[in-house]
Amino acid sequence: MATKVLVTGGAGFIGSHLCRKLLDRNMEVICLDDFSSGHRKNIQALISHRGFSLVQADVTAPLDFAADEIYNLACPASPLHYQCRPVQTLRTNVLGMINVLELARKTGARILQASTSEVYGDPDVHPQPETYWGRVNQIGARSCYDEGKRCAETFCFDYHRQYGIDIKVVRIFNTYGPFMQPDDGRVISNFITQALQGQDITVFGQGSQTRSFCYIDDLLEGLLGIMATGPDFTGPINLGNDMEITMLELAEKIIALTGSNSRVVFKNLPPDDPRQRRPDLTLARDLIGFDPLTDLETGLVSTIQYLKTTLARDLPASC
Ligand code: UDP
Repeated sequence: MATKVLVTGGAGFIGSHLCRKLLDRNMEVICLDDFSSGHRKNIQALISHRGFSLVQADVTAPLDFAADEIYNLACPASPLHYQCRPVQTLRTNVLGMINVLELARKTGARILQASTSEVYGDPDVHPQPETYWGRVNQIGARSCYDEGKRCAETFCFDYHRQYGIDIKVVRIFNTYGPFMQPDDGRVISNFITQALQGQDITVFGQGSQTRSFCYIDDLLEGLLGIMATGPDFTGPINLGNDMEITMLELAEKIIALTGSNSRVVFKNLPPDDPRQRRPDLTLARDLIGFDPLTDLETGLVSTIQYLKTTLARDLPASC
């Protein structure tokens, strides 16, 4: 019998790629999404697939599905989106996590929780190993996401300790690729959209802050690899790419790759914006041989191609 997999947030950027990959591996996929930040067009091509079912629902309402595995991805992940509706973001992270864990208690399902590098906040340990407890402002603009994800991790470990739930907590670092929305507000989609439209490239602060960007295909390999680990492995575990770049360098790279005439302009740095971020991938490399092979230029070229096609079809809306 095929493995039944519930993907919450299955119509989002990472979720829709994951659904496709699971179907390719002959699994049955239930995609749950309320379309608050996910998009129907991301999963349109999957709807006719025999193993795929779509449920339009909010993860904060109780869940009742037969599932062997659950990937809990439901939550807006772009700062622009999660800060638009912070109360909903926090509720999704916390109540959604409880509902997923309660479903696992009923069904015995294994859970992969999509946690985040944001649990490290604005880190003063660099690169960030899983043993680092982080530096998060619990009342700041990002806290609905950061603290929500931290609380979700706590719930995972408490359900594991108290009820023996099989959990895998994965801390996902910045990820990019086709199916990002032009208006999703994240830096790569923003810069590419601006470059393709000949608009100014908005670098926040001096652009000296760093991120490390993982191409979606590499991340998916990691997620499936972690889900397949034995019940003794709970995480937390980092997944991402450890090639680090400043936002100014990223802007220049995207201008060059798009051949754009756009110029860089500097805007105010948003509050609590992490100054540096790079995963320590030792654990993922040792445990599952994780090897994020896609270099930034290759990944950017395919993302540029996708956004070019998307922009030719429809213009971005704002938050
Ligand atoms: N950023 C930027 N210009 C933009 C959007 C983002 O300079 O138009 C910066 C942002 O301040 C942050 C980095 O790019 O330092 C990554 O931002 P993103 O929103 O993609 O995600 P984050 O890693 O902050 O969650």
